[in-house]
Amino acid sequence: MGWGCLGFLLSPVQVKRDVYDRDDGCCSFVGQGGHVCGSRYAVQLHHRIAWAHGGSNTPENLTLHCGPHNREPAT
Ligand SMILES: [Zn+2]
Repeated sequence: MGWGCLGFLLSPVQVKRDVYDRDDGCCSFVGQGGHVCGSRYAVQLHHRIAWAHGGSNTPENLTLHCGPHNREPAT
């Protein structure tokens, strides 16, 4: 079984809970100077590698971004 199958095995609810627990419900966006945002405002799941670019729905590829940072273009 390849990694590509994993997305179908993991419950999105469980993945979301794992990512929230790991990141403590805080935005993990790193700005200029290495400052981590840490905001809890309108926090949403964010794909490090976009789904459209082959990113998966695994906790390793997901992080939390606050509302304003979730709208930042991926770098
Ligand atoms: Zn943020």
